[in-house]
Amino acid sequence: MTAGKLTISIDLELAWGVWDHLTPDDLRLAETTERTICAALIDLFDRHQVPATWAVVAALLDEASAKARPGPKACWFAPDIVERLLKNTAGHEIGSHSGRHIYFDTADPAEARADLEFAKAVHRAHGLAFESLVFPRGAAGHLATVADLGLKVFNAADVGWVEGARRFGRRAGQAANLLDKLLPVPPQSAFAERCGPLIHIPKSMLLMGRNGPRRWVLPAVTRAKLRAGLRRAQETGGIFHLWFHPSNFYFRRDEQLATLDWFLAHAANEAARGLIEIRTMGSYAGAPAGAYPERAA
Ligand SMILES: [Zn+2]
Repeated sequence: MTAGKLTISIDLELAWGVWDHLTPDDLRLAETTERTICAALIDLFDRHQVPATWAVVAALLDEASAKARPGPKACWFAPDIVERLLKNTAGHEIGSHSGRHIYFDTADPAEARADLEFAKAVHRAHGLAFESLVFPRGAAGHLATVADLGLKVFNAADVGWVEGARRFGRRAGQAANLLDKLLPVPPQSAFAERCGPLIHIPKSMLLMGRNGPRRWVLPAVTRAKLRAGLRRAQETGGIFHLWFHPSNFYFRRDEQLATLDWFLAHAANEAARGLIEIRTMGSYAGAPAGAYPERAA
């Protein structure tokens, strides 16, 4: 039997994540809060020796890209955060979250290629790995180009009933999403699948921010879901793929960090007992042919 797996991915993007619907609040929080949170996250992962995949928007390392954007440079340019990240002792993987956070479902072939070529050049110039891609907003596309540039593993969609509800329209999707977060519904396991030369690792659960109505989601419910997601992966032999952005810690920061601290301690303990494998996204590359089912087109 294959052991269950835990994979954690973190999208590091600062204001690039919201460049197309930017508010003054986004800029203020990215400037004043993001660095403290990243430092706290890196410390937490170091303390528990749990490796994650940090999917970085390459433009964060390109000063010229920042100059073209509104507001303080610190919201768009963050080599200091990447430098701090590279000093981690947890064994993190550096992945890509694209060049400038474009959307690959609507980008034309030339745009998609230019964005990924830019990302690859930045990663190469900084000696960063370039194997795993987390598509901005989960909007996948141009997979042949992705593979052509040497990427091996990607993430697009979430698994789970919330995605199912979205088929009934945006409102149903939003309602299902909030309900899903309020109730201790166990997150589904993800299973690696082969898409041509690439491997797709779907997501199981977003560690959601605590602003707006989401502040009513009790930490106890989030903990129950985290525990249930990991247990379900153990039962199914699948992957519990947890993901978030540092911005998901902007509100109720200490409570959110305490939840993650608790979960990483739990996961590290399960791993030490041989009950779960902790794997980065890139670690799924290089599996023998036939290891993962082919995704139906
Ligand atoms: Zn993003």
